[in-house]
Amino acid sequence: MKKVGFFRSIHLKFVIIYVLLILIAMQIIGVYFVRTLEDTLMTNFQNSLEQRVDMLVFDIEEEMVKERGKEDPTKEEAIRQLLKDYKPSASDISEVRVIDASNFRILGTSDPSKQGIVGQRITELKIKRSIALEKDEGSIQVDKQTVKPNRVWVQSTPIFSEGEVIGAVYLVAKVENIFSQMKDINRILFTGTGIALVFTALLGILLAKTITRPIADMKKQALVMTRGNFSRKVKVYDNDEIGQLAMTFNVLTKKLQEATATTEGEKRKLSSVISNMTDGVIATDRKGKIILINKPAADMLDVSRETALSSEIVSILGLEEDYTFEDLLLEQESVILDFSTEKKPLILRANFSVIQKESGFVNGLIAVLHDITEQEKIEMERREFVANVSHELRTPLTTMRSYLEALADGALDDKDIAPQFLQTTRTETERMIRLVNDLLQLSKMDRTDYHLAKEWIDFSLYFNRVIDRFELTKNQNVTFVREIPEAAIFVEIDNDKITQVLDNIISNAMKYSPKGGQITFRVKEEDSEIVISISDQGMGIPKENVGKIFDRFYRVDKARTRKLGGTGLGLAIAKEMVQAHDGDIWAESVEGKGTTVFFTLPYDRTAEDEWS
Ligand code: ADP
Repeated sequence: MKKVGFFRSIHLKFVIIYVLLILIAMQIIGVYFVRTLEDTLMTNFQNSLEQRVDMLVFDIEEEMVKERGKEDPTKEEAIRQLLKDYKPSASDISEVRVIDASNFRILGTSDPSKQGIVGQRITELKIKRSIALEKDEGSIQVDKQTVKPNRVWVQSTPIFSEGEVIGAVYLVAKVENIFSQMKDINRILFTGTGIALVFTALLGILLAKTITRPIADMKKQALVMTRGNFSRKVKVYDNDEIGQLAMTFNVLTKKLQEATATTEGEKRKLSSVISNMTDGVIATDRKGKIILINKPAADMLDVSRETALSSEIVSILGLEEDYTFEDLLLEQESVILDFSTEKKPLILRANFSVIQKESGFVNGLIAVLHDITEQEKIEMERREFVANVSHELRTPLTTMRSYLEALADGALDDKDIAPQFLQTTRTETERMIRLVNDLLQLSKMDRTDYHLAKEWIDFSLYFNRVIDRFELTKNQNVTFVREIPEAAIFVEIDNDKITQVLDNIISNAMKYSPKGGQITFRVKEEDSEIVISISDQGMGIPKENVGKIFDRFYRVDKARTRKLGGTGLGLAIAKEMVQAHDGDIWAESVEGKGTTVFFTLPYDRTAEDEWS
């Protein structure tokens, strides 16, 4: 954070405010005090002057109205004498003049050096006015005759006798004394103000420090907190408002620390959930740029996180042609994405949800990717299965309908054709029953709660009995070769189910065997399993189709097998049953030479020993 400049600091503001306050206070006090003092001093001066002038006026009036004899001194002499006597008692009076009101001439002056002016007419307006207006006239004037211009008090007082003005006393008194006193006082005040200001400034700095120190501390603490460090505490200096603020700040720090810890914890939990979930998650900013992508999403889309983080979501999902980012924001349904390659099928379902503020402002988008390849495959298989079943049922039904129609149309009366037609419908009906039975069998196997009724049997003995049954019923010119160990081989199997597996494989071998062909039955003991194989010398299966013969409804040559009465489900059922026994089933075939179908069953030699 930027440092607070000196001119903006609280320190300076405090000092300026304090200094201004003191300055204003001192100014107000000073002006008021000086004014009052000046007035008081002037009034005292005037009062004391008044008293003395009154006495002088009284004496002069007496002298002026006095009856004089020949030997008495003249009026002027008497007044001069009076003024001479009067002088010492009034050191601040520099000159006193007495004026005769009858002719406006000066009767006398106390200043010995100005005796020349006696008898002259007065020129001062003040004297004339005081005589005319019959009252005191006084004011301060500047005496320019002195070296340094001096302020003097000039006053003219009328002299009354029997109600009439007979003259005037004009005096000049020194007032400079008062002003110099005032000057001294002003200087004292000024110095006082200066000292007070210095102290105030110091006090201001101190006070500002006491306020700014905890504030600066809090600022430091807040800065440390922004870096995620909550261990520091603000020092509480006092229990005043700032102290309480510091305490509250410390409480706030603790609360913030707890809140941050909770948020961090939640964040960690969320990120661990996101990275550990099997679904892919992509989050974008409000413009559609990817800001988060978890590993499953990156794996599904086969991009590195770094590449994804600098890309737009629409391009990463390969949706640029059909969607804009705004479309995705409004997309309510899930979008199916096909990322299948030649090597690997991959179908993804993307669900979008908008990250919105309460105000409705869109902050971004979250896309959840779910791998639905398996689901889609199952769904496709289901559809294919339903189509196959319908087709398989429709073929015999159509055949039956046409034969029944022919019979109804008159073939029934034809003794040669009727039994033949009826035989065909019967064969078709049997085929349908077989088909439905096989379907039921498969659907039973598909159930999750499917149980095997397992029991321990001697497989050699059991296998020979199954082959015997075929040998008895076979009407074909094939020979059976048995390569089955004579010793008992004990395995735990569901008798009925494995019988069905063997029935399906052996009947196929017989079905596809040529006349005079040989069918070889083998049982081989291995460490943990026995391998049963049935080989024929039939026409075999093309190499590329060998793996598919265990699929439902798969037939190498549809027309031919249908003729042979196959449903295309026999080996599929066999596969389910062998797998239910934790075994494996496969076929090996050479076209034109023959086919061998193998299957394994779990086998435990130690259990064998126990039996023997
Ligand atoms: P189906 O009831 O049609 O025989 P299966 O599931 O038993 O159905 O067999 C599937 C297909 O595998 C048959 O249609 C046939 O084409 C082929 N197949 C099975 N066993 C043999 C074999 N021993 N020799 C030649 N082809 C066979």
